[in-house]
Amino acid sequence: MPHDEHSGEGDDSRRERRANSSPESLRRLRDRVKQHIDYRSFYLRYCHEARQSGTRLQSLCPIPSHAHSGTGHPSLSIDLQQGLFNCFSRGEGGDAITFYELMHGVSFGQAVLELSRELGITAGQKSERPSLAQRAAPDAEAAEAESFEPLDAERMRAACERFLKVCRAEDQLEGINYLARRGIDSATVRRAGVTYFPRRAYRRVMRRMLDHFATEELQRGGLFNRKAHLTFYHHRLLFPFLVEGRARYLQARTTAAGVEPRWHNMRGGVPSLYNVDALASAPSGSVVYLVEGFTDTLTLVTHGFTAVGLVGAGGLKEDWLAPLGRFSVVAALDPDDAGRRAAARYKEMFARRGMKLSSISLATDVNDFFRQRPSASLEFQLLTETALEMTNAE
Ligand SMILES: [Zn+2]
Repeated sequence: MPHDEHSGEGDDSRRERRANSSPESLRRLRDRVKQHIDYRSFYLRYCHEARQSGTRLQSLCPIPSHAHSGTGHPSLSIDLQQGLFNCFSRGEGGDAITFYELMHGVSFGQAVLELSRELGITAGQKSERPSLAQRAAPDAEAAEAESFEPLDAERMRAACERFLKVCRAEDQLEGINYLARRGIDSATVRRAGVTYFPRRAYRRVMRRMLDHFATEELQRGGLFNRKAHLTFYHHRLLFPFLVEGRARYLQARTTAAGVEPRWHNMRGGVPSLYNVDALASAPSGSVVYLVEGFTDTLTLVTHGFTAVGLVGAGGLKEDWLAPLGRFSVVAALDPDDAGRRAAARYKEMFARRGMKLSSISLATDVNDFFRQRPSASLEFQLLTETALEMTNAE
């Protein structure tokens, strides 16, 4: 969601711009841009048909204000060692910053800032503060473990629930749309307590959390890092683990392309199966699906099935089996090696407790299956019946 990813930066970019706007700091930044820039790839980005001879490029001139016909002789000459360009036809030349200004119609200051950001020049000088994203980055695991005592379950619950409440006051639309595109309806989203906040609300969410908790407590829960920033910066679609209606833990995913890792969570381990509360209201003997991840779980819930989710194929814990005892459990794990291995291992785990586990193998994950097939529900039901018959025949 490009809109979502850009709209939230305002605050920080503006501050950066102010901090860098003195002529002196701009000149310093310009010098650093020139130290880091690769002139060849910079100019080739604009001059696709340039020809290189020695340390020079010769190209048709792309500068918009020159309004070249594009059919004449290449009039632009670039000195790759000095990084200087010259258009013989219009008698205009200069350095890479000037070239950038002309190409994008921006001021010198803007050109320097945009190029420095592109080159990742942020730290190292007083006037250049690290970006908000950098300040929000989760602590390295080792550093986190040695500095903070984990929160007890009650405070963890309090932090989770407050976090969800604070975020729920923000605009949910982008989160709901993201899940809707994956075929998960808004009623399911609401029931599962899935909550979102847009990036533009990041600072407000952070402040509201600080209204209710000491920084240290938030750090102990992994919501804040050692720089006292909320770590849920890229990851703002929150999936709570509800146990008896209360959030005990949460994981969040990014809704933007290109962010790795895709997931972020509070400190500590996953406390239960995802959507475990669904078991309380399901009748004994009914079918319960065991799937991987939040999306697959909520996809099945959207289509009226009862499902619980594992975080990763191998995440099932022995302690979680007892509440499954009164159901017909059917695993629908991902069709990869990890999924197949896990299904086989869980079958043994179930058997040791005198329980049975059936298994469905789809060609794709559950979410894709439902998105790609108009009659997915019916097919899924038929596959389930076959799987249960096979288990009973064993
Ligand atoms: Zn020109």
